[in-house]
Amino acid sequence: MKLLVTFSRKEGKKPIIAQVVRDTGVLVSVERALIDSSEGEALIDIPDDTCRIVRDKLADLGAAVRFLEEEIALDESECVDCGACISICPQEVFSFDEESKLHMDAEKCVLCGRCIEICPHRALSRKSEA
Ligand code: SF4
Ligand code: SF4
Repeated sequence: MKLLVTFSRKEGKKPIIAQVVRDTGVLVSVERALIDSSEGEALIDIPDDTCRIVRDKLADLGAAVRFLEEEIALDESECVDCGACISICPQEVFSFDEESKLHMDAEKCVLCGRCIEICPHRALSRKSEA
């Protein structure tokens, strides 16, 4: 399960994800993080059965948590196999198969949304919006 965690840094730097790992014993995979002097945002991946304990711990530490269940959806009827999404994706989610048709490995996706913006045929969307 992927969680988007937002936290303030106005009261100083706190290793919030490290604290969650230490206090819950859950192994947290950080898939992307954007941190500036005032705020931080991290996309984390955790085992489904640990969602509640991790969410509660993050809330205790003052973070806002959103569950990300929407995956990226590919509308094959709109895709023209141009390859633009292959170039832009930082996770190598997309590739061409032997017949030069687009193949998608959704497990690797970190939901950054870049492919949605670049697709010239609007063949990609978040599943909740598809
Ligand atoms: S950018 Fe859009 S049209 Fe081009 S290969 Fe990717 S999904 Fe298909
Ligand atoms: S949302 Fe980001 S990581 Fe996921 S498939 Fe699109 S470009 Fe790749």
